[in-house]
Amino acid sequence: MAMTRSAPDSCPGVLRLHQAADGPLARVRVPAGRLEPAQVLALARAASDLGDGNIELTSRGNAQLRRVRDAAELTRRLEQAGLLPSRTHERVRNIVASPLSGRVGGRADVHGLAADLDAGLRAAPRLAELPGRVLFTLDDGRGDISGLGGDIGVHATDADEFAVLLAGRDSGIRVSAADAVPVMLAAAHGFLEVSSGQWRLREVADGPRRVADSLGLATAPQRLEFGATHEIPIGWLTQDNGLVALGACIRLGSLPARLAEFLAATERPVLLTPWRGIVLADLEEWAAEQVVRVLAPMGLIFDAESPWLLVSACAGKPGCAKALTDVRADVAAAVGEVTERQHWSGCERRCGRPPGAITDVVATPAGYRVHPAH
Ligand code: SF4
Repeated sequence: MAMTRSAPDSCPGVLRLHQAADGPLARVRVPAGRLEPAQVLALARAASDLGDGNIELTSRGNAQLRRVRDAAELTRRLEQAGLLPSRTHERVRNIVASPLSGRVGGRADVHGLAADLDAGLRAAPRLAELPGRVLFTLDDGRGDISGLGGDIGVHATDADEFAVLLAGRDSGIRVSAADAVPVMLAAAHGFLEVSSGQWRLREVADGPRRVADSLGLATAPQRLEFGATHEIPIGWLTQDNGLVALGACIRLGSLPARLAEFLAATERPVLLTPWRGIVLADLEEWAAEQVVRVLAPMGLIFDAESPWLLVSACAGKPGCAKALTDVRADVAAAVGEVTERQHWSGCERRCGRPPGAITDVVATPAGYRVHPAH
């Protein structure tokens, strides 16, 4: 039976910081993970001037700053950089999209839809009431996003046809590109009608069917199945237009501000991925070669064989009061031995665990316990 929520969700934002064990934490929503170079620079400078010197990447392609010293100054800077375009809707802008869409493969370009969805969310006063946990997904048909367990999403089945996903499952509803955003916004309103205080659509009794009914659209008999994939963009990727995108892994999703400043200096868009990595897009070949030469020694990982691609970890000590150990330091010490996907946690809650088959390494008072993938 679904758990009944007795309190509003407490997802952090910029205007509402989370009091972590190591200090205030700010989460910056980055719809579709897309950052302009000036925004990367603004985040980097905020991380070094006002935070702990790192930009943390989240499993929703958002950015976090830890140990924030001056929340008012952070707000001012992020608003100036266009990273806080709405004070009323900041925490509901949880939108993930296929990072390579429109550049490398895929059936449709969903990044324009993501921008329209963001604008539509911000323009609807009632949708400010959505819980901060609600996740919107846009998959360009390659299947990298639809398995992430979103609440409301679309999945391209053709250049101009999308399956509507509710609670991560195909609802059977098919819409055109022009209707994709209006239908997602209608589904968000539908969620609020049935949510009864729940944070996720899957927690609402019969939620997906009730929201689908509220849309009043015909359903196709066949249903698509989506699973979690681990085909993260890594290394040299030739774009459909001949330019180059570079996919890079960031160790445990923690991007040092100095490295982010170098990324900004390329003057190219940066996409934060839900696998806590980045894609640096639209590079000429010579520039891509330079980036690899300069930034690989600084810590960007372009090698698909790196064991860092296999590991993820929760915050652990000192960021989390519940942590039994400094998980991230322990992962760093052990990563050379890792040969399978692993998620390390500082306690049984297993925060940030990616979906799918993955070995859990969980701290207990008696040391780490390993739960093999199944
Ligand atoms: S898994 Fe436990 S230790 Fe890790 S961040 Fe979550 S609550 Fe904290």
